[in-house]
Amino acid sequence: MIGVVTNNANETIALGRQIGSLLRPGDVLAISGELGAGKTTFISGVAAGLGISDLVSSPSFVIINEHFGRIPLFHIDLYRLEEGMDIEQLGIEEYFKRGGVVAIEWAERMGDLLPDQHIDIRLEPLDDNRRSITIDDRGSNRIPSQLIGG
Ligand code: ADP
Ligand code: MG
Repeated sequence: MIGVVTNNANETIALGRQIGSLLRPGDVLAISGELGAGKTTFISGVAAGLGISDLVSSPSFVIINEHFGRIPLFHIDLYRLEEGMDIEQLGIEEYFKRGGVVAIEWAERMGDLLPDQHIDIRLEPLDDNRRSITIDDRGSNRIPSQLIGG
């Protein structure tokens, strides 16, 4: 488990990039934190760490965006998931089998559909520009407790 405080968006992107560089096909990032916490910002760093050069933005109406780099990135944002909407019908489970990294914003809305084996990432705003970020690989040892370099 890693706990860091970032002082601005660029530091969050740099952290995401470090994490992205460690990821392998099939990894799932379950990302939680309130609106504006920095989930999408973090994922844009992950994309950079996966060698993806396109712009990562919030999927607004589209719930899933696909990006192709060293490993594909499937960026899922469940913010607009409506009450009573059947998450199983979105076909999200298919993405877990596609040999990419799946990064999910509002992952808590996945309920039982979230794979047990995932990396838990929580962002908590401390003030306008500081975010407390915890990363827990839940025993998979994917993320070393000391990140070195950037
Ligand atoms: P979310 O996807 O969680 O709703 P976004 O990543 O879209 O959040 O937006 C986060 C906003 O907060 C951006 O405008 C970003 O520039 C700003 N911000 C300020 N400080 C930080 C920080 N330390 N980490 C991430 N974002 C930050
Ligand atoms: Mg977002």
